[in-house]
Amino acid sequence: MSTTPSHTYRLGVLEGDGIGPEIVPSSVEIASAAARVTGTSVDWVTLPLGASAIETHSATVPDETKSALADLDGWFLGPHDSVSYPEPYKSQLNPSGTLRKHFQLFANIRPAKSFPGAKAVCDNADLVIVRENTEGFYADRNTFAGTGEFMPTPDTAIMLGIITREATERVARVAFELARSRRKKLTIVHKANVLKLTTGLFRTVCQEVATEYPDVAVDDFHIDAMTVHLVRRAEDFDVIVTENMFGDILSDLAGEISGSLGTAPSINASADCAMAQASHGSAPDIAGQNLANPVAMILSGAMLFEWLAARKEDPALAKVAKIIEAGVAQAIAEGTSTRDLGGSASTTEFTAAVVEAVEAGAGQG
Ligand code: ATP
Repeated sequence: MSTTPSHTYRLGVLEGDGIGPEIVPSSVEIASAAARVTGTSVDWVTLPLGASAIETHSATVPDETKSALADLDGWFLGPHDSVSYPEPYKSQLNPSGTLRKHFQLFANIRPAKSFPGAKAVCDNADLVIVRENTEGFYADRNTFAGTGEFMPTPDTAIMLGIITREATERVARVAFELARSRRKKLTIVHKANVLKLTTGLFRTVCQEVATEYPDVAVDDFHIDAMTVHLVRRAEDFDVIVTENMFGDILSDLAGEISGSLGTAPSINASADCAMAQASHGSAPDIAGQNLANPVAMILSGAMLFEWLAARKEDPALAKVAKIIEAGVAQAIAEGTSTRDLGGSASTTEFTAAVVEAVEAGAGQG
């Protein structure tokens, strides 16, 4: 039963490109249903971004979008198809990189968890990848000004990899805190046998932070070996911390083996700001066909509500997150899923099944 809302939360909606206009409205519809049943009041603020913003504002992330976001409690970001943008936008930092850099969203938290009732390579995975989000080997965003990628001649391309103690320490603390709230195991992923100074520093700093968390068991693997361990025994891992590019690649793998990339959620967070964003891209191959799996975007929304619950000290927000998660799990367990999970439901049919589960009391037992 609903209670009278004590506060209205304001959340941004950035649909993005490709399947974004299908999966973002789905996640908003489900979050709205979950908020309604808990009596939580949410104002949704739609803002321009991506290909449509190029047409209306001559920018992929208009200044008005950035300044509006700064005043909100958080936002849902759809995927972008930046490779299809016309120049000069195609060569610029892509929309999610722009927002991560602008708001210093230094931790990208990407869970990979199998769903009962859905087919998966590993059907009992339950791990979280904590990816450093501001530097590392993603040279398009690892410098204060300009980019860390450049071409001194038409036939020579150079990129900078940047690892700093400060950025590693802050992301390591997020990962250790998370491990402490889960199964108390943390794996550091690096390539310190080859990239000795850069990823060696990443490993060393994480190991130093580990001394503050004696209750968390720590191990470490090279990124290449880690792909093998994930495929063979994903269920053994709890929290994994790694640099930007390794984390991006590893989380696609983790998402796919635990079900589908279409179920892999994430949030990007700083100490005081967070953005919900599915781990996958804009899937142009299936865009506009009502085939996309909205689960990753829906669960990214749930992660944002959970993050906000801790920050605003409002248990009703944690309840919204639980209800969304339970609604998704119930719809899948009762046999409704999209094609990538072995089902035949369209995006809109799956969304309707989750709304029905939420309205029927999922997660409120
Ligand atoms: P990016 O670099 O922007 O992350 P990408 O090149 O890694 O994008 P995606 O857009 O994530 O690629 O798509 C990879 C594959 O996964 C495609 O075959 C796509 O159709 C599929 N896929 C991605 N997201 C979903 C989804 N939500 N539902 C179903 N299939 C998806």
